[in-house]
Order: sequence, then C-alpha cells, then structure tokens
Amino acid sequence: ELEKRESIKLKVREHHIDFIRLQFTDLFGFAKNMTIHTDELDKALNGQLMFDGSSIDGFASVAESDMYLRPDLDTFQVYSWKPNEAGVAHVYCDIYDADGHPFEGCPRHTLKRALREAELLGYQLNVGVEGEFFLFHMDDKGEPVFRIQDHAGYFALSPDDRGEEARQEIITTMKKLGYSIEASHHEVAYGQHEIDFKYDEALSCADKWMTFKQIVKSIAHKHGLYASFIPKPFARQNGNAMHCNQSLQDRYGHNAFYDPNQPSKLSTITKHYIGGLLKYAKEIAAIANPTVNSYKRLLPGYEAPTNIAWSCSNRSALIRIPHSRGRGTRIELRCPDPTANIYHVFAVMLRAGLEGIKQQIEPPAEVMGNTYRMTTEEKERLHMETYPRDLHTALQHMKDSPLVEQTLGPHAYQTFLEAKQQEADEYAEAVHRWEIERYLKRH
Ligand code: GLN
Ligand code: MG
Ligand code: MG
Ligand code: MG
Repeated sequence: ELEKRESIKLKVREHHIDFIRLQFTDLFGFAKNMTIHTDELDKALNGQLMFDGSSIDGFASVAESDMYLRPDLDTFQVYSWKPNEAGVAHVYCDIYDADGHPFEGCPRHTLKRALREAELLGYQLNVGVEGEFFLFHMDDKGEPVFRIQDHAGYFALSPDDRGEEARQEIITTMKKLGYSIEASHHEVAYGQHEIDFKYDEALSCADKWMTFKQIVKSIAHKHGLYASFIPKPFARQNGNAMHCNQSLQDRYGHNAFYDPNQPSKLSTITKHYIGGLLKYAKEIAAIANPTVNSYKRLLPGYEAPTNIAWSCSNRSALIRIPHSRGRGTRIELRCPDPTANIYHVFAVMLRAGLEGIKQQIEPPAEVMGNTYRMTTEEKERLHMETYPRDLHTALQHMKDSPLVEQTLGPHAYQTFLEAKQQEADEYAEAVHRWEIERYLKRH
C-alpha cells in the first residue's frame, strides 16, 4: 500500500502531472470524474475527498449526500493520449459513505461483491469484451450529423473504410495505456467499427471499457467524426453489441471451463454456468439491455440474439461457444449492448452463472441452426424461451428477481427500476414519426 503510494507520487513527478482525474461510474453506467490538482494528491490518496452524492444520478437521497472517493491505487494511469494537455493522469475510485462504509450503490463495489462470491467458490472471472460503435460525421459545432460515415462493410479495407485512421489511432492510444487488443475491424453495418479486448480479470476489464469509451469518443472527435455506442441507429442494419467472452479461472490459474476428458472439451461447470445464465436471462435483460433502443437491436436477422438458447456455432443464440479450447475456452454472452453499465452486467451475469454451478442447473440441449426461423412449436419442443422484446417486459422480469436485487443491493435496484420504468413509459407515450406517416392520411 505504502509502496504503491510512493510509486504513484514518483510517476506524478516524472511525468509532470498537474491534474488527476478521480473517476467513477454512476448507476446508469455514465463515467463521472472529479479532477484535482496534484497539490491535493495526499488528501485524495487518503480517501478524504468528499463530493455531493445527491447530484449524481441514482446515488443517494439528499439526506445522506456526503460521499467519499477512495482511489484504487492499482488503476492509476498517466494519460499519454492527450498530446496538448500537459500532465493528466487518472485513477478509478470506489465510493464510501460518511461513516466509512462502502456505498452499496457504487457499481464498482457491486461488481466486487459478486467477484468475492466467486472467489469463495474458488473462481476468478475473466472477460474479454468486443466493443462496437458507429462513426458519424460531425458538424462544425461538434454535433453529430445523422448520416453514415462510409459505405463499407464487414472487414472492408481503406479507402472504403474511412474510419480506419481513427480506429487505428484509438488502438495505438489504448496500447500506450498498456491494453492488449485482440483484433479490430470494420463491422457489418455502414460506418460501424469493432475493437476487441484481450481477456482480463473482470474488474480491470470493466475499468478499461470505461476508459475505452472515452478514448473512442475523443479520438473520433480529433478526426472530425462523432462516435456513438447507440445500440441501433439504423433500422434494417446491424446494431452495436458488447459481447462478453467469459471464463472462470480456478485457484491454480487453470481455465475451469476446459476439460480435455470430455468429448466437447467443456467442463461440467461450464454447462452449469450456461444453465444459470439461461435460467436468469430474462431477469438480467434490463441490466444488459437498459434502453428502449436496445430492443430494436434484438430482432431476427441481425446476428443479435432473440431466443434464450446456446449454440457452438449459431450467432442467433444468446450464448455462443467459440471454437477455441485449452486456455482460450470461453462462452460468449451476446445480449449486452454498450448502453449497459458494464459493472452491473458483469456482476449479474457472474451471479447467474454461479447460481447455475451451485444449483447444478442443466441447460437445455444445444440448438443447431438458426433460431430466428423456428416456429413456436419447435421452440416449445426445445424448451426455448423468447428473450424480452422491449424494455417494459424486461423490467417486469427484473421486478421479480431476488437475484438482481441481491446483486445490486436494494437501493440501487429500486432506483434503477423506477428510473427505467419512467423511461419506458415516456417512450410509450411519445408519438413517433412512423405513426404519423402510417396513419395520418390513411384515417
Ligand atoms: N453487431 C451484432 C450484434 O448486434 C453482431 C455481429 C457480430 O459481431 N458478429 O450483436
Ligand atoms: Mg466480434
Ligand atoms: Mg461484432
Ligand atoms: Mg462476438
């Protein structure tokens, strides 16, 4: 602890750091930060920096608004990616209340609680996320122009792929911060891009995702482009996902999903973990897909899941098991999208999977072929349920979920449900352009 502090102070001096961003995430997954001057470093490292929690979305009521930021010293990083801005660093913080207790509604704490539960069972969660986003044009006021940035497709090359330069700079920047990037490419839709993280311990992966989103937005801006993680900007085109490739690592550092003695090379706990995820999929849907727009992505025909099933090959299933085995054995949860709070997503998916292991839940048989085209009868025969089709339905399932309530804690659970129900209601009340076009003249 003392050593870590000294090394941070050394870095601050070496890199002539003037400002430090104390970062955290609100209930809805938005990055927040309090920037301090290095003069305040000691105070910050002692966790003595206070802020008014009542003005952060979903945090506290006014009565209990004094909160404290405690930096996680392992996450200290110098921002090498702000060329004109001398000396900025950041550190991720956990939130504590005035009595020095971890604030239950802090998403980082929420994930840590779930990770601790896994640890008690002897596991560490590793995740590699795939980040998808669109690059739009930008007007001279910095506002997005709702027009696609290129007409290239999957795996296209420049000059068709006009976002390539921006994408490459995003990756170089991430590498400078010490991130390992597995791959990157133009995605299926026009103007859509993907950058894949190498797997990492879950908390670290979640922090990196938060930084990644900021980097994508600022580098795009530098190139005169506007980056958006909106799940489905264009009807009849693929949307943005946040696929979560995950595995459990046992106490000896082995991948617990791999079993060379099974014909499938998948261990029994992999099956049970999948069983848990499928069983709780409907309950965690509002966490993985928390916006009205999220459900426009989850429609047949766009490689996004619509049915609660698993498959080794088919991309229409909620869970896919990529081909690689050995250390790379993993399952890919395909429902989450980038509007989700990543700390919450990891926490609920882990808890669901662990329940599967504890209750030894057998998943239904693997589905073969495309689930988009299956009839109701076929789905019934395969014990395959439909993933919630809209935010309202997803919230109904979450309202009956002790699993999600326990994972988020009662305060965050209630606050999230209320805010999201209001969002769903507002959308239901709005009159959309589609309705006017369809009905105004006809009736
Ligand atoms: N972007 C698609 C989705 O919405 C998936 C396409 C892909 O990554 N293969 O899930
Ligand atoms: Mg991919
Ligand atoms: Mg993709
Ligand atoms: Mg994928």
